[in-house]
Amino acid sequence: MRRVVKIGTSTTVTPEGQIDRKRLAAIAKGVAMLLDSGDNITLVTSGAVGVGKGLLNGRTQTPNMGRPALAAMGQIALMSAYQSVFHPLAVGQILVDHSHVSQPSSAMALQATLHHLWNVGIVPLINENDAISGAEQRIGDNDTLAALISSLVAADQLVILSDIDGLYTDNPATNPKATRVLTIPRVSLEHFGQFGDGNPGPWGSGGIISKLRAAHIAQGYGIETILAAGHDDTVWQRLIDQDYANFTRFAAQKEA
Ligand code: GLU
Repeated sequence: MRRVVKIGTSTTVTPEGQIDRKRLAAIAKGVAMLLDSGDNITLVTSGAVGVGKGLLNGRTQTPNMGRPALAAMGQIALMSAYQSVFHPLAVGQILVDHSHVSQPSSAMALQATLHHLWNVGIVPLINENDAISGAEQRIGDNDTLAALISSLVAADQLVILSDIDGLYTDNPATNPKATRVLTIPRVSLEHFGQFGDGNPGPWGSGGIISKLRAAHIAQGYGIETILAAGHDDTVWQRLIDQDYANFTRFAAQKEA
């Protein structure tokens, strides 16, 4: 199965702005399991801005740096951590902006690079090029980016790993009666008003609304989306077994 796995900032970075190496190591193990099962894997990973903030706070002088500069600082540390925890698997970084998914020649170049990496067993790690994306080049959040990449690579499935194990009928942190929705056959406009408060957490840009948007985009391309918890080590075997009972599954629209 061809999968695009999006890993959110809440999974890669601790609330203090440190890279969560233990978590990244668990992800490396999980990705190795998926590859061993015959999957084709592309990772879209967030965390550059959050790591950048953490690094900045560790310095004696803390100038007020903007998002691009924080990303420039954080991305290199994030990639270095991925490289070390994925070893002996090799990883390759690709930073993209809107033009890479919207302009045919750039999109083809991106596809070609991904194919080269897959062919030699290198795991692609994609992030938005936050360091230099101007307003008109920005995609804005990695859930959307991952959905666009899923379409570009004709993925069978988009997996979004977040701080929550699915989509709930209400915010489970404040409403104990909230229940997880097992399957969403078709994301509709009402879902956007119904679910969550859209809070993206301390460092990320996403929140549940951007996950719904990503699932909606993927559905439009006939790709299913799985929303699962990034801290759950059982996710990987369940994906291999196609056992989605513990997650929320947004069906591919062609099935609806
Ligand atoms: N590209 C951003 C980063 O690496 C994350 C965007 C998002 O949270 O969706 O920090």
